[in-house]
Amino acid sequence: MKTDKKYILAIDQGTTSSRAILFDKKGQIKTIGQHEHRQIFPKAGWVEHDPQEIWRNVRKSVADAFSDVEVNHHDVAAVGITNQRETAVVWDKNTGKPIYNAIVWQDTRTQAICDELAGDDGYDKYHDRVGLSLNTYFAGPKVKWILDNVEGAREKADNGDLLFGTTDTWVLWNLTGGTKGGVHVTDVTNASRTMLMNLRTLEWEEDIAKDFGIPMSMLPEIKSSAEVYGHGDARGFLRGTPIAGILGDQQAATFGQACFESGQSKNTYGTGNFMLMNTGKEPVFSDNGLLTTVAYKIGEADTVYALEGSIAVSGSLIQWLRDNLELISDANETEALATSVEDSGGTYFVPAFSGLFAPYWRPDARGVLVGMTRYVKKAHIVRAALEATAFQTREVIDAMNADSDVDLTELRVDGGMTANEFLMQFQADLLQVPVIRPKVVETTALGAAYAAGIAVGFWDGEQDVVDNWQEDKRWTPKLDVDEVERQYRLWKKAVQRTLDWVDEDTKG
Ligand code: ADP
Repeated sequence: MKTDKKYILAIDQGTTSSRAILFDKKGQIKTIGQHEHRQIFPKAGWVEHDPQEIWRNVRKSVADAFSDVEVNHHDVAAVGITNQRETAVVWDKNTGKPIYNAIVWQDTRTQAICDELAGDDGYDKYHDRVGLSLNTYFAGPKVKWILDNVEGAREKADNGDLLFGTTDTWVLWNLTGGTKGGVHVTDVTNASRTMLMNLRTLEWEEDIAKDFGIPMSMLPEIKSSAEVYGHGDARGFLRGTPIAGILGDQQAATFGQACFESGQSKNTYGTGNFMLMNTGKEPVFSDNGLLTTVAYKIGEADTVYALEGSIAVSGSLIQWLRDNLELISDANETEALATSVEDSGGTYFVPAFSGLFAPYWRPDARGVLVGMTRYVKKAHIVRAALEATAFQTREVIDAMNADSDVDLTELRVDGGMTANEFLMQFQADLLQVPVIRPKVVETTALGAAYAAGIAVGFWDGEQDVVDNWQEDKRWTPKLDVDEVERQYRLWKKAVQRTLDWVDEDTKG
């Protein structure tokens, strides 16, 4: 089905804001509407969003995008949704109102629930089915917390009045009519972050849902990442427009970066780092601290899987240098400072501020800055902070190579930190493979747009993504291998210094 419509609209429901981006046939951005929402911190370790505010912001962002370039739904062939993953919303299907704020992926309140579910079997008890170990990061424990703690929730859930969704599902349900016929659906990538979906069958695991105390009636229907789920509600800006693509944000970036071959990887450098490697049509279960996840499934085509390495602190270390130490006033200053010195002066900075994520998963670790001497200046510390992101990425890639038997040949990158040329060069040196940044760095929204566009025939398939993907800049390794390995060995020594710090005498 060919169409004369000019655009695909991507709705990117992110952790800090919601955005609406119009893409043309070439995958170029026409305009962006964006609205930030509040970060709600009721207690230490708790992070919430107001789902109603998010839905309002999605509508405002779409309205801004449309009015900016004077288009309307007649010009839009389809809508794709991408979203912050794992963030859980529970709402009443009769009123359309959430019964509690959305519990955000970073929230750690469910530690006790995870401990209890693990029991004597351990945190890996569901791993061979869902690809994940019990952890506060995932959506399932958050839903259990809401049902256990919100008054009357359990009863309503048992009566079939409550619905659960990650924010893709929340936005889709509202876009397609809400209480008046809203579609209750999620895609395989988002479902793979709940701990409730079997990675091979792509169906909910009833007995795991039972362990969590979540009635099956609350769970959305799982569909592929590219098919028509429903149409924009008659009362809205998107009336009659097919909603035809859903991908979790990191999977969307993988798709937008055209990582379609087994072994191809992308790394997103934002607040934290998220690296995904396409492992092809079979899920690979990690022995090295990585998550197994669905990368995408386009309509009826085979499911494609990925290994994922999540790093908690990367860009946020630069924010910390700016806001807490006041060493810099803007992240952009770090490049000139880092290159004003020859090396990090022997310092290594391991930002294990809230423990270490992949590949260590050590909640008992805390940050260290080691190798300090009187020689060390501000510039060395800033350089060590930037290098920390590259070292952490190297550790994740080593784990991926070990798990997958397919060695990385190049790395596609995106995200805010990729503006830093020093970091990108150091990354290429450390990995000893080229690091490549595309022209369109909004890869997350782009991936969701492609999924929707392919579903409605606006694009023919993945080959269009490959054809439209354009390289902006490439960094090739320059540093001597012996020097790389010397520094990497010292980094690993520094990591050892972070471990086993938290004990009964430490606070926070
Ligand atoms: P997110 O999507 O997670 O909000 P972005 O992709 O927008 O993040 O990236 C923002 C992060 O990148 C911030 O943490 C910031 O400190 C970091 N950052 C931005 N510009 C630079 C730079 N030139 N050098 C190093 N870090 C940078």
